[in-house]
Amino acid sequence: MELSDEQLKQNLQQVQERIRAACQRAGRDPADVHLLAVSKTKPVHDIEVLRDAGQTMFGENYVQEIRTKYEALGDSVEWHMIGHLQRNKVKYIIDKVKLIHAVDTVHLAEQIEKEAAKAGVIMPVLMEVNYAREETKWGFLPEEAPEAARAISALPHVRLQGLMTSAPFTEDPESNRGYFAGMRQLAASIQDLQLPNVTMNTLSMGMTRDFEVAVEEGATIVRVGTAVFGERDYPNPDKGNGNAGI
Ligand SMILES: *Cc1c(COP(=O)(O)O)cnc(C)c1O
Repeated sequence: MELSDEQLKQNLQQVQERIRAACQRAGRDPADVHLLAVSKTKPVHDIEVLRDAGQTMFGENYVQEIRTKYEALGDSVEWHMIGHLQRNKVKYIIDKVKLIHAVDTVHLAEQIEKEAAKAGVIMPVLMEVNYAREETKWGFLPEEAPEAARAISALPHVRLQGLMTSAPFTEDPESNRGYFAGMRQLAASIQDLQLPNVTMNTLSMGMTRDFEVAVEEGATIVRVGTAVFGERDYPNPDKGNGNAGI
C-alpha cells in the first residue's frame, strides 16, 4: 500500500506527537527519545519525503536493501541496521550505517571488530536481548547479556552503547510493559559493571504497537515502521522480529 506524500508527513507528525505525549506522562524530556523510521520494503521516494520533512534516522533490516538505498540517498539520512545480521554481510554495511542494533552473538561482534578495523572506523552497536525468551527470536537471553557485554568491551573498534529488544507481538501493549522495564534494569546492571568502552545510554525498543509504553519505560530509540509508512505489502513472517538478512 502506497501512501501519499501528505499522508506520510501527517503520519510522521502524529507519531512524533504520540512520543511527546508519552514523554510527558512519564516526566521525560522528549529530546531524549529518538524516532527511528523503519523503511524496510518502502521506496526511496517515501524516505525522501520524510527526510525533507525533517526525519533523519531510518532503519533497515536487509543488507541488500541498505546498499541499494544508500546508493540513492548516501549520507543524506542516518542509516541504522536493525535486522539480524549475518557475519559474511558485515563488510557491506560497515561504512554506511550509524548504529548496528541487533548484535546477537559475540561472534558477530568479533566480525564487526575485524571489518571496522579494516575500514578504519569505530562501530557503535547495541546488543539484542530476547527478553521474553521467545523461541522464534534472535538475541541474548537476559542472563547471558552481562558476560557478552564483557567480551564485546574488549574489542577496540566496537563501541557497545546499549541494548535492543523486540517485545512479543501483541494486541495489548500493556502486556509488554514489564519486558521494557526489565530491559532498563538490565542496562543499568551492565552499566554498573563499568566495562571499558561500554555505555548503556541507548535503549532501542518499542514498535508501532507498543512504542508509547516503551517510551514510558525508558526507550531512547523507538523503531516505528507501519505507523509512519503504512502497512508493508509482504507477509511479515514473524511480525517484527529482525528475521533473516538477505
Ligand atoms: C519491522 C521492524 C520494526 C518496525 O515494525 P512496525 O511494527 O511496522 O513498527 C521494528 N524493529 C524491527 C527489528 C523490525 O524488523
